[in-house]
Amino acid sequence: MMSANTWAREQWSAKHIPKALLGHVMETLLSGEDTAGTARLASPWDAWWASYRAGISLAHFGVGIAAPIRSCTTCAVDALALMTSTPPCHPDLAEARPCGCLLEWAVRMRAPSVPVSWPPLSLTVALIKPGAPGSQIRDQLERTHKVLRIIRRTLTTDDTRRLYPEAYGADYVAARDSYLTRAPVEVLLLLDQRAHGDETAIADLKARIRRAIGADELHNHLHMPDNPGEALADIAHLAGNETLAELYERYERDHAAERLAFYRSALGVGAADSHSD
Ligand SMILES: [Zn+2]
Repeated sequence: MMSANTWAREQWSAKHIPKALLGHVMETLLSGEDTAGTARLASPWDAWWASYRAGISLAHFGVGIAAPIRSCTTCAVDALALMTSTPPCHPDLAEARPCGCLLEWAVRMRAPSVPVSWPPLSLTVALIKPGAPGSQIRDQLERTHKVLRIIRRTLTTDDTRRLYPEAYGADYVAARDSYLTRAPVEVLLLLDQRAHGDETAIADLKARIRRAIGADELHNHLHMPDNPGEALADIAHLAGNETLAELYERYERDHAAERLAFYRSALGVGAADSHSD
């Protein structure tokens, strides 16, 4: 049987580590499960990303963090300062830095990689971008998901930065911001209706919808997190902490321990103390 513990950490592309940390942070807070230990990261920017994406400072992580000993000191200091602020702050990716680590890290975060089979989460969120064929996308989503709530809002550049903290390249970021903030978006809170074991990964579902409606790299019509940590972070950000807490208690609380075990395995939490796997 494929359990969380059979996941060799080496199988993971480094870009998935911050997403596992985000899942761990969100679910520790939401479930109240008692956790401890230290998450082993590939870069200090991994922890900053999880912190910024969640809007949660390091003090509330519920787990310690350790970056590789060979990490650049400047980056360790800067990332720590940004993620211990309340709320966490963002480095200006366009500004000159004394080293190239942050840009290298951002490039890695946005590079294609082998997909991960994340533990299932029934709740998710779809953000239908300005100018997208909304009813067509809703019809497609309703084949697999129940729409729990619809929220209309106009995004600001603070929102776009929170959704994509790792985006880099001044021209790309400017084009993205003008696309996403020009008109209201529709946020759908969704519940997966498929039987357990019948889930096509959200990444595949999203790709299929984008293909069906015709999308290019920037104007891709639909934002939909493909991992549980980002789904929870986006629900909190776009619908509010209270709504997330209520939905989580109702639909997700029962399987929190299994997902936390998966994250802990992926993050190497406790691996130094126990080799009993
Ligand atoms: Zn550096």
